[in-house]
Amino acid sequence: MNEKVKEVFSLIEAEKKRQSETIELIASENFVSQDVLSAVGSCLTNKYAEGLPGKRYYGGCEQVDRMEDLCRDLWRQVFRTDYHVNVQPHSGSQANLAAYCAVMDVGDTLLAMSLNDGGHLTHGSPVNQSGKLYRSVFYGTDENGYIDMEDVRRKALEYHPKVILAGASAYPRIIDFDAFRAIADEAGAYFMVDMAHIAGLVAAGCHPSPFAAGADIITTTTHKTLRGPRGGLIFAKEELGKKIDSAVFPRTQGGPLEHVIAGKAVAAAEALDPSFKIYAERIVENCAAMADEFLSMGYDLVTGGTDNHLMLLDLTRQDVTGIQLQTALDACHITLNKNCVPHETRSPQVASGVRIGTAAMTTKGFDPDRFRRTARLIDRAVRALREGTFESAECAKIADEVRRLL
Ligand SMILES: *Cc1c(COP(=O)(O)O)cnc(C)c1O
Repeated sequence: MNEKVKEVFSLIEAEKKRQSETIELIASENFVSQDVLSAVGSCLTNKYAEGLPGKRYYGGCEQVDRMEDLCRDLWRQVFRTDYHVNVQPHSGSQANLAAYCAVMDVGDTLLAMSLNDGGHLTHGSPVNQSGKLYRSVFYGTDENGYIDMEDVRRKALEYHPKVILAGASAYPRIIDFDAFRAIADEAGAYFMVDMAHIAGLVAAGCHPSPFAAGADIITTTTHKTLRGPRGGLIFAKEELGKKIDSAVFPRTQGGPLEHVIAGKAVAAAEALDPSFKIYAERIVENCAAMADEFLSMGYDLVTGGTDNHLMLLDLTRQDVTGIQLQTALDACHITLNKNCVPHETRSPQVASGVRIGTAAMTTKGFDPDRFRRTARLIDRAVRALREGTFESAECAKIADEVRRLL
């Protein structure tokens, strides 16, 4: 191994150590199985396979054809659906771009949740290509932090969007897909769902299914609550299938990552195991317990609680910023991210809250008691930050407690 290669592997080892010594609360992260790692680290990375199974532009695709077909079948089983599925998107962002390309022309209108209220950059934000290609209109949350369905309906009828998009990166409550479907029908729009965050809960029946609501297009990542490799999937009603496929390739991607598709197939097989349903139920149970602990200590949570795998801690009353808490907790091996809160007065780089998710540590076996104790450690950090004693007195002690919990 040459020196530079050694350097790469020593960085990977160091990251492995960081991951094992950290309470990981980033709501979009998880820990995949050894089988997923093996598939993604396999020889399939060597193979070019532009096109779809049976219709490739390269020879030698017999095995990857069978594998990609298997992957597609497994994902349809996971969501108990006969929708068309494309398993090639390299990421959630790629899946969304292809989905838009399939049904929208440049200049068409997209109605989606605003970034500040919990939406995603790829949902028409001006700094993302989706906001440059399409005219985006945003709906938001009401004063309690819930999606304002009246706002959705009003804007749908006023702006005549081609696509109405439901889905979020920072929303702690159940999304009413049926209500969105009804508005899309009334407005004559396609109804698209980006279930990137909650897909694992949908698979396990812990969140209403966008398939049951009859969404036209459903995109997801595979690496959040689904606990697969980094990647994306697109599901669509059969009549949109061809448009979706050509939007992925050749319009927005080249050769599919067959090694990642193999990892997605493994993740789908794991999601079909009865143990996955128990896993997803525990994510939600753990999240409820942790939220309850914060509430009992007097903290504000956006919407006052959570129905899913994440919560938004509003630190406005504590007068501690999101970035302050994120940085302080990093120093004691608790990882989370700052997040805007409704009626945010600070910039997104500072933010008045943090987002906390339970999917990753539930994989590591954390139970409600450990999540409650983690909440109390976060509270200690918040109080020490207010009193100016974080570095001198508390940081090392919290880090010790983190080690004990792990
Ligand atoms: C994470 C996320 C994405 C993007 O996924 P990437 O794989 O990071 O591109 C898209 N939409 C939503 C709602 C997300 O939370």
